[in-house]
Amino acid sequence: MNFTPTLAVLFFLLLLAVIVVWGRTRRRRRRSGRRLTRTMRRSLEGLGLLLNDETDRALEVFLRLAETVPEAHEVQFALAHLFRRRGELERSIRIHQNFIARPDLPRSLHVRALYELACDYLSAGLHDRAETLLKDIARDSTYGVRALGRLLTIYEYQSAWDEAYATAVRLASESAETLDPILAHYRCEAAERAQRLGHTHEAARLYHEAVAHDSRCLRAHLALGRIALGQGDDRRALDRFEQAFWADLRFAFATYPECYATFRRLEDRRGLLRLLERLESVSTAERQSVACAALIDPGVDAEHAHRWLHIFLEAHPALATSLVLLGLLPESWADGPIPEDLPLRLRPLLVRSLRFRCLHCGYTLHQESWQCPSCRKWSSLLPHFEWIGEEGTRAQADPSSVPAVLGRSPPPPNVHPLVRLERRTRV
Ligand SMILES: [Zn+2]
Repeated sequence: MNFTPTLAVLFFLLLLAVIVVWGRTRRRRRRSGRRLTRTMRRSLEGLGLLLNDETDRALEVFLRLAETVPEAHEVQFALAHLFRRRGELERSIRIHQNFIARPDLPRSLHVRALYELACDYLSAGLHDRAETLLKDIARDSTYGVRALGRLLTIYEYQSAWDEAYATAVRLASESAETLDPILAHYRCEAAERAQRLGHTHEAARLYHEAVAHDSRCLRAHLALGRIALGQGDDRRALDRFEQAFWADLRFAFATYPECYATFRRLEDRRGLLRLLERLESVSTAERQSVACAALIDPGVDAEHAHRWLHIFLEAHPALATSLVLLGLLPESWADGPIPEDLPLRLRPLLVRSLRFRCLHCGYTLHQESWQCPSCRKWSSLLPHFEWIGEEGTRAQADPSSVPAVLGRSPPPPNVHPLVRLERRTRV
């Protein structure tokens, strides 16, 4: 049996459950010593079979034990959990189905077995079966909230955004949990679907609902701004874009370009200057986010991007070092002028190196997304740069913190991976 630490812990819990059942049985049946001995012997026999990877025989032993010793349910649940973690879903399903079929089972255990069976189905990708069970359990006082949470997982996976929204509203009321930012995303997803179908008014209504749930939902503000642009109302669009921009500066890559472009379209130079002055008082990390947005987006002109170059290079010292080695940047760049044409020459490299990494689980995507496809967290993917060398040497830089690119991934003597990449991309 190949034991990972998690499985070892589960196995220990299973052994503990056997001992607890044995203790309870002992107290209740002090006079029936023979039965007690038989129970313990069967439990140990089952554990021994598990250790020898004879899982089918072990399963038979534990199922027989459940028939003769009703108190052994903790052993059964622990065993099923162990099987599920090992990916042996047929076995965990069989244990839980065996539970549910027992007519003498107390209601609390029956619901617990139903919930665990739904989790088995979810793990097996049998979403329809899981959904049916979870809907039945959703009213239960003990497992209802957990069942609603699992239903959300199913609806998100199926992109059933109306069902997800209704379930999240119910979950929020029953758990006292704040789900407004997630509810806003569900409304935005439904709105985007409506837009794809050409239902702009319905989409606008749903985006407004999203803002009602979360006034800082920059995704909804952005979309409402674009709708206003489409209606020719540039001033209202700019108002929305500014709300989106200031809602969370970490997402400047998504909000700054449209903000900037609308200021330009309206020829509102004073408004843009006011925004830039206000940016002087935000944190360095937030200004670095704006610098990243200004340098990457092709809609931002080179002159404007140039004003952000200093702060961007300060956040990416490895890039600055490479540019100095290439002769594109003077060694004294930190205290002196930077070539005017550098933003345009740099942009292709930045676009090519741009990734989006989940703050929660570290999953990395090539394209921006509102939801992490790995951990399913919302608004967790932020831009960072991956500089990839010819031999697969990889260094990473996070725009929100000063990276240690050179320290993490030392280059071969005299040539930094970035330099090689730079030569190949001919910026
Ligand atoms: Zn994630």
